[in-house]
Amino acid sequence: MRARRAEHHEHQPRGGDADSQDPQAQADFDRKALLYTGAAVTTGVVAGALLITGTALMIHAGRRRPLRPEQRVQLRPGPGGLSLRFLSAAILRAVAHDIPLKCRCGAVHGRALQVDPVRCNRLICMCDDCQVYGRWLAQHGSPILDPSGGTEILQMTPSQLRIDGGSEHVRCLRLSPKGLMRWHTGCCHTPIGNTLEKARVPFVGVPMAFVDLDPDERDSKLGPVLCRIHARYGKPPLPADSHPRAPGWLLRRFVWQMLRDSFAGRHRPSPLRHDDGSPLVTPTVLSLEERQSLNRST
Ligand SMILES: [Zn+2]
Ligand SMILES: [Zn+2]
Repeated sequence: MRARRAEHHEHQPRGGDADSQDPQAQADFDRKALLYTGAAVTTGVVAGALLITGTALMIHAGRRRPLRPEQRVQLRPGPGGLSLRFLSAAILRAVAHDIPLKCRCGAVHGRALQVDPVRCNRLICMCDDCQVYGRWLAQHGSPILDPSGGTEILQMTPSQLRIDGGSEHVRCLRLSPKGLMRWHTGCCHTPIGNTLEKARVPFVGVPMAFVDLDPDERDSKLGPVLCRIHARYGKPPLPADSHPRAPGWLLRRFVWQMLRDSFAGRHRPSPLRHDDGSPLVTPTVLSLEERQSLNRST
């Protein structure tokens, strides 16, 4: 019987006429054929889906920039054009970095966690309040304003901010009773971050003066400066990518980020607040006279 089966297999290659086959071999063949066909179809579907998703992501990344003519005029394309800049930003997103933070004298230091150019906004703000604050810091030996009156800021969530040492030096200034809470160090007047009064708002704008990166590292780890905003307060000549206020695409991006981060509860933990949300230190509020004298100074 064994000999007959061997002979049978010898003369009946797999996949031969079903009528003359061993039913067991035919069943094996059918099962394997089904398996191979299934595997081939699955591979094809997965490859197709990956191709479509990749293409869609590339197109989406390329279209993150404004397309309206006035925005094209306002924004400087930079090397490679806007699409390439934001495609590179999308790629950089996969490589989030923990960024070292340090005040001028080194007494206060910390980290910004998981910073990437999609989740965080790198901006230069020329608003009058930021300029007044810049002058106040300069009066205390810590100049941060660029020649246009701009302050470079990295916007993130409080939950990304860590202060690992020197938190006893943290101070807070408000330019008016309702103004932003402008956190800085008492040791050397390095700005740490700007927040709103409400603890539940998942936002902190960290001035680049507190970021311990070389200019080259900033571009590679933080991505490019997205835009220069509130240029109507800036000092001419203004750089080409300046916007009088803030472009619509940036506002939409900001609203989306706030919604997403509020939903995720990223307003805490914050190194600038106690667990109950109260400020780490009582803010100092500038008097009207102090504010006016800073308005007048250049
Ligand atoms: Zn310091
Ligand atoms: Zn500002």
